[in-house]
Amino acid sequence: MTEQDEYFMKRAIALAAEGMQSNAGGPFGAVVVKDGEIIAEGYNQVTSTNDPTAHAEVVAIRKACKTLNNFELTDCTIYTSCEPCPMCLGAIYWTRPKMVFFGCNREDAAAIDFDDQFIYDEIEKDIDGRQIKFVQLARKEALTVFRDWDAKQDKTAY
Ligand SMILES: [Zn+2]
Repeated sequence: MTEQDEYFMKRAIALAAEGMQSNAGGPFGAVVVKDGEIIAEGYNQVTSTNDPTAHAEVVAIRKACKTLNNFELTDCTIYTSCEPCPMCLGAIYWTRPKMVFFGCNREDAAAIDFDDQFIYDEIEKDIDGRQIKFVQLARKEALTVFRDWDAKQDKTAY
């Protein structure tokens, strides 16, 4: 960890405060850095945009990908004011950054009623044991699209 890392984390924390104070959403901020420069910033906008996926990390990732015109954030570092929730963790893995710094941890978030533990618990469960009912339907028909994708010659793999 360098002074530069601390600088970027402080920016993520400032964004968390900014978003909260402007009533954009919860107290979370994130920045994406490439080659020592911030290429995207975000704060939580769930309640102001009625978008439950508008977490700080997702907002910043979407902007960064747009800026880089790429669906991956190779060689980027993400600084987030709090340990990513399971959704953002997934988004981060899909974008393949090289590193993630986080400020608060999931226990800190749970202490102010942002508890992600139930999602971690749900992931561990069998589908039949989950709180939200998941039912498999029309697998045969759905698989035809997968077969077409598998055979598609001009696809962009990712
Ligand atoms: Zn999240």
